[in-house]
Formats: sequence, C-alpha cells, structure tokens
Amino acid sequence: MIDLQKSKAAFEEARKFMPGGVNSPVRSYPHMGCPPPFIASAKGSHITDIDGNTYIDYVGSWGPMILGHAHPAVISAICKAAENSTSYGAPTLKETEIAELIHSVYPSIEKIRMVNSGTEATMSALRAARGYTGRDKILKFEGCYHGHGDSLLVKAGSGAATFGKPDSAGVTKGTAKDTLVTPYNDIPAFKAIMDAEGDEIAAVIVEPVAGNMGCVLPVPGFLEALREETAKYGTVLIFDEVMCGFRTSSHGAQSFYHIHPDMTCLGKIIGGGLPAAAYGGRKEIMACIAPDGSVYQAGTLSGNPLAVTAGIETIRQMMNIPDLDKKLAEKTSALLEGWKESADKAGVPLICHQSGSMFGIFFSEKDVLNYQDSCEANAAQFKAWFLSMLDQHVYLAPSPFETLFMSWAHTDEDIERSIAASRKAMEEAAKA
Ligand SMILES: *Cc1c(COP(=O)(O)O)cnc(C)c1O
Repeated sequence: MIDLQKSKAAFEEARKFMPGGVNSPVRSYPHMGCPPPFIASAKGSHITDIDGNTYIDYVGSWGPMILGHAHPAVISAICKAAENSTSYGAPTLKETEIAELIHSVYPSIEKIRMVNSGTEATMSALRAARGYTGRDKILKFEGCYHGHGDSLLVKAGSGAATFGKPDSAGVTKGTAKDTLVTPYNDIPAFKAIMDAEGDEIAAVIVEPVAGNMGCVLPVPGFLEALREETAKYGTVLIFDEVMCGFRTSSHGAQSFYHIHPDMTCLGKIIGGGLPAAAYGGRKEIMACIAPDGSVYQAGTLSGNPLAVTAGIETIRQMMNIPDLDKKLAEKTSALLEGWKESADKAGVPLICHQSGSMFGIFFSEKDVLNYQDSCEANAAQFKAWFLSMLDQHVYLAPSPFETLFMSWAHTDEDIERSIAASRKAMEEAAKA
C-alpha cells in the first residue's frame, strides 16, 4: 500500500477537533479502510498529499475544477481581485458581469441571485417557488441530492446515501411531511403523484442528470414528462444543475435535452473553486425575491468579489476553448472504454455511464436507472477497485454514490495510466 503515514497522523489529530475529522462527511473515507490523503497542493490534473504522493485526480473538488487545478488565468484573476480587498458587502460591476454571462449561457435564467453554496441555491429556489405559488409541498426524486437544506434531506443521495442515512436526524416531521418523494426515471409513478397532489405542489426539483447516486442519466421521456406535468398543474420546475451544469454540456442539461425549466440552480463550476452558487429563472418568479418581493433571502458574502471573479474567469476560459464539450466527452469516453475493457478481461460485470465530462461506473450486471439499482451494485468490488486505484496513484471519490469528473487538464498519458491501473484494480475487484 502507498505510504499514508503523515495523513494517518493528521487524520487522528483532526478527529480530536472536528466531527469525523472533516468539514464534509464523505472526505473522511467512510468504509474504505484507509485514512483520507490530506492534500498539500494540486496543479492541472494532479493532486499531491502531505506524504508526497501525487495522484491523477478525477474528483476535481467534486466538480468545480473543469479547467484543472490552479489554472494560471484563474489564479491570476483572483490575486488581482484580492488586492482590492476580499469583500465589500456592496454592489460591484463584476456581479452584473457574471449575471449577464450566465444569462447568455443559460437563457432560461432571466434573473439571478448569487449565493455561497449549492445548498443555499436549492433552499432559496424552493422558498421562491413556495412564495410564488402560495403552496407548501415539494416533490423530489429518491437518491437525488440537493444540498443539506432540511426539506431536501429526505431520501437524499451523496454522503447521506454513503452513510446509510438518506433521511437525516434533526429534520422535523413537520418539514419532512411537505417533501414528497418518488423514484427517479419512473414516469408512471411521477404522473400518479402529480394527478393526486399536483395542485398542492409548489415545486418539482430534480437533478436532470443525477450525479449523487452514482452517475444516472434520465431515460427518454422522463424530463419531458416533468415539464408537461408541472406546466399542467402550475408547479415550478427546478433543475438543480449544480453538478451537471457546464458538464453535460457547456449550456447545461437543459440545453442538451431541450427542456426549459422555470428555475435553475448552479454551483460548483460557477465559483471556479471558490464558494459561489446561484439560483435564477423566470422573471415573474424572481420578482418574488426581496427587495422586489416578499420572499426574504440575503447573504453577507453573496456575490463575493473573489468568488465572482474566479467564476467569470473559469466560464470565459471555457467558452474560449474550441469544441470544449466534444473534447472533454471524448477524453471521458476513452477512459471509460479502457476501464470497461479491463473489467471484461477480469470477468467483472461493469456498467459505465457518462454525461459529457461527468461519469461513473457501477459494479453491476444490470443497468442502473434509479437509487434502488444503485444500492444493489457490488460494494465489496467497488472498495477493492478503489483501494487498488489509490495505491496506483489514481484519486477517485471514495464512494459508489459519487460521480467522477474529467478536466481540460487531463492528458492522454493520464488516461492511459488510469486505464493501466484499472487492469490491476479489476483483478483485485474480481477477487473481492
Ligand atoms: C453539490 C451539489 C449540491 C450542493 O452544493 P454545496 O455547494 O455542496 O452546498 C446541490 N445539488 C447538487 C446536484 C450537487 O451536486
């Protein structure tokens, strides 16, 4: 096994002062049987821990690092902005610039509000939808993760699923009862709920490409059904594109699937690695937000000049790379084809999913369409494969419920090395 001595000691020290030694649960490497590498630095597609191990990184800070780590233009823009102070709590030109830029990439976002995390974006979008419709209930899909707002921690994915706690303690029964849940990709089940309660439902919120129960794509007709039924009942359709935004395609899942939601949540990439997220959508709905309307939502650091600068620079760099989407998708397919071949050779059943530059694998014989299917995948094989990959310096999300990310900085050599590593890792998985 690689040397993680310093990380092991650092983890023990961290556990004395922080729950699980971390500031976000999955970072603690639950169930993986090794300490999490403590990170010292990262550059491009590579990340280095405090023991001096350098890995090829497919976590990318869980999504934001689409240009690779420490992109020179992004870092230099942040440094320049920092010289003018890190926050004012007053309007700046950059905030209008990012609002216009995002509107040009996501035309369905007519008006936008910047916040500091994806959690805040989804929470606030739901409040806006409730204020706009005057209704209390919301509908989400099992295994989708929309951050850790109370009303969304019901049958949630990501870390909540990894720890076997899709329904969090500490959420009141009163809050949970207004959250309806139905399986992802199940059109008849969704229609049945809408027929029964549609006119009491303020919002339907969905990851149009799900990334928090592993990477699960919408079946043909699913997103169309969401659009039709919500329009029929006057329910606000919210696309949570915090992860799939700029990943499924530069213009999001909404452009790829040609479905226009009423509201969209963005995060991760739009902060370029600093804390920024946003929600926005139709003008009439956003007119409900204070100070224009009566739905209150605010933030001391919202629209922070460093975060907004990092976001603008990241998006502009992306838009300047010719055929970015196509090239990222090709790199991703090449990697997945290699991994699939390595699994076939080792006799390990493997399902590979990809949506642009987000991707995932399931140790499963049958295709994975929803949370139930994802839970049935082979956890022991995942663990064996994950540990062998780590040992060979390939850094992956330590849970089968997470998605992996390709960046612009990944080279052909990175991909070849990651495929070679998988040949050995799949043999380990076969023994598990
Ligand atoms: C990451 C994520 C969130 C939460 O964002 P945070 O910035 O971690 O609060 C919400 N929705 C989706 C789809 C996500 O992937």
